[in-house]
Amino acid sequence: MENNASIEGFAFLGDELSLQPVRIDIEDGIIRSIEEVKNPRKRWILPALFNAHTHIGDTVAMDLPVDGDLESIVSPPDGLKHRILRATERDALVSAMHATIGFMEQTGCAGFADFREGGVEGVDALREAADGMSTRPLIFGREGGELISDGYGISSVRDLHNLESDIETARRAGRRIAIHAGERDSDDIEGALAYNPDLLIHCTHARRNDLRRCADEGIPIAICPRSNWILGVTRSPDHPPVCEMIDLGCRVFLGTDNAMFVQPDLWREMAFLSEITTLSARTILEMGIGGSALTKDPYWIEEGKRASIIEINPERSNLICSRDPVRTVISRGGSCHLDRILF
Ligand SMILES: [Zn+2]
Repeated sequence: MENNASIEGFAFLGDELSLQPVRIDIEDGIIRSIEEVKNPRKRWILPALFNAHTHIGDTVAMDLPVDGDLESIVSPPDGLKHRILRATERDALVSAMHATIGFMEQTGCAGFADFREGGVEGVDALREAADGMSTRPLIFGREGGELISDGYGISSVRDLHNLESDIETARRAGRRIAIHAGERDSDDIEGALAYNPDLLIHCTHARRNDLRRCADEGIPIAICPRSNWILGVTRSPDHPPVCEMIDLGCRVFLGTDNAMFVQPDLWREMAFLSEITTLSARTILEMGIGGSALTKDPYWIEEGKRASIIEINPERSNLICSRDPVRTVISRGGSCHLDRILF
């Protein structure tokens, strides 16, 4: 990243993403000042994106033709993707993950929360793949990997025995707990909530009571709408019940889930959500950035904070005709519009 930079344009400031004409000065990677200016350059300055749920290891099986249900494809220990991962040479796995992180970097995504399979070795392989990259992983390991990573990524409370003691050990080691819940039905949501998790993934079939608990207990939810549609666990804009989540006050982040089926491109995820729901554009943009709260340094643009910023040049294309930059960013944005990436 450029450690020192001065950028000017219409910036989406703070966690309210309020659009202001400003100049932003960055020194040593820190936002030193944000000053209002008159008639700035025609640029849109945004916080970088954060992908709140991925499995980038399964990049190795990208677009492999499959048929079968969710369980036979992605459930551990013997779902198709797990068999492929076990049969993949370490070098091939590392270079596939490296390529996917490089793609995320090009799209202006500064971080991602990955469920990393393969125990301690799996976590080590992801660290090697991310070495030297600007886009940084938050790693949720399993099968022992949770003890050397940022957290414990649990496939579903119904898949595992000894879960209680494993979670207790992970908690004692200071790890965070993230759990897939409610992906194909609602049966495993209450069980997941009983562990007081730091993050739930999917909640595609969550009921109102589950969501109210998430809101009341401050448990964020990472939704992955394209994955849900591609894997056939929903065909309805009401699942995941994202409008209900927002109405109830849940914190909702966006993720792209399995790289095997879904390109980890949050611009597409935001556009899809804007096409199938009635959520406001600003809410969707918040979801594409808000997962950065899982890191020590959320990406909101504020003085004194580390810069995690992207700059869109609307003059590069027809985006310059926009009457509503927030709507345009989430429905038409993409890596082809990015002029600068500062993270
Ligand atoms: Zn997942």
